[in-house]
Amino acid sequence: MAALFSERMSLIVQKYGGTSVGDPSRIMNVAKRVIATQEAGNQVVVVVSAMSGVTDGLIKLAREVSSAPTEREMDVLLATGEQTTIALTAMAINALGKKAVSLTGAQAGIITDGVHTKAKIANITPKQIHGFLDEDCIVIVAGFQGQTMSGQITTLGRGGSDLTAIAIAAAVKADICQIYTDVEGVFTCDPRVVPHARKIAEISYDEMLEMASSGSKVMQSRSVEFAKKFKVPFEVRSSFSNNPGTIVKEETMSMENVVIRGVSIERNQAKVTITNVPDKPGIAAKIFNTIAGANIIIDMIVQNVSVAGTTDISFTLNKDELPKAKAALDSLVKEIGAQGVIAQDGIAKLSVVGIGMRSHSGVAAKLFDALSAGGINIQMISTSEIKIAVVIDEAKIADAAKLAHDAFGLGEKG
Ligand code: ASP
Ligand code: MG
Repeated sequence: MAALFSERMSLIVQKYGGTSVGDPSRIMNVAKRVIATQEAGNQVVVVVSAMSGVTDGLIKLAREVSSAPTEREMDVLLATGEQTTIALTAMAINALGKKAVSLTGAQAGIITDGVHTKAKIANITPKQIHGFLDEDCIVIVAGFQGQTMSGQITTLGRGGSDLTAIAIAAAVKADICQIYTDVEGVFTCDPRVVPHARKIAEISYDEMLEMASSGSKVMQSRSVEFAKKFKVPFEVRSSFSNNPGTIVKEETMSMENVVIRGVSIERNQAKVTITNVPDKPGIAAKIFNTIAGANIIIDMIVQNVSVAGTTDISFTLNKDELPKAKAALDSLVKEIGAQGVIAQDGIAKLSVVGIGMRSHSGVAAKLFDALSAGGINIQMISTSEIKIAVVIDEAKIADAAKLAHDAFGLGEKG
């Protein structure tokens, strides 16, 4: 770990996720790492999640006493998960002979809006954090929680401890922000699917966001967006090793030299096609207002060129949402004068992501060539400035990932 730390004293924010603090021995492991960081001459603020499974367990408990608990009470309940971990982590550090103090989100000065269960951070006044750091304490802050101006407990949405860490790092002007998790970093593809996938040394915020929205979820997306907005560089690394992880930061010139940073895949997708939709203003708005009204999140949308005044509109969504979508659309189809709804699951999405795509040509052709070599049929295509995504048969997704990964030379030493 020594190479990480410069000569002068740095202020380091470290975040440990649920599996990293999943049991007492893992909490002791975190305590030792944090102490080693301090002993290397740094001030340390630690953000922790609830122990793994605890948040889910609390949600389950709530359901057992109420089918519709208020969101205010959910926040009061869920915040206890992180509050347990901060106390245990501080105790563990104390037991090893070092000074540590735990702070709830409110004590750490995290003020949010009043949107319970998915609050946004409004501002942070880290007065207590600085005060305890000045007393040589290691400061342990509860992730995922804050309070409103009027003192109500709030939580930041699932995975919100990442956001706490990034926001605290911005507020205290940390030199380094490290997100410790149970993986070694961000990989060129899921190593369970492509065994020779490599750890990515550096990735831009935008690439990280595209990888996450395409299925490579290492961190909560909102926290990456926040880091981008406030220009907080951070490192994703493992709490179970001392290996360097992946640095996520603003893009640099040299990042453009790599055409594709990674391949990400998302299984459990479904496709809905509405056939023979009258091609006139207001119809797409009606369809997607209906979908939005049913609280269904969709991904790709494709509309065909119209022939004889009608067109087909397809979109993809999570497989679990398919029954809801079908129910919402069945009556609408008649109302708008379309022919019918075709719902299909068993599909998956593969995306290749890289900012280098902006300055390189032939990326799409290369991907499609690779897939055709494997006899893989492309059902839908969508693109952004730094991403090409295709929908294919779910049974072929692992083959497709390997082909794409090889086609762009991602397994080779960079
Ligand atoms: N404990 C919360 C969750 O499970 C927050 C987090 O772990 O980041 O979503
Ligand atoms: Mg988490």
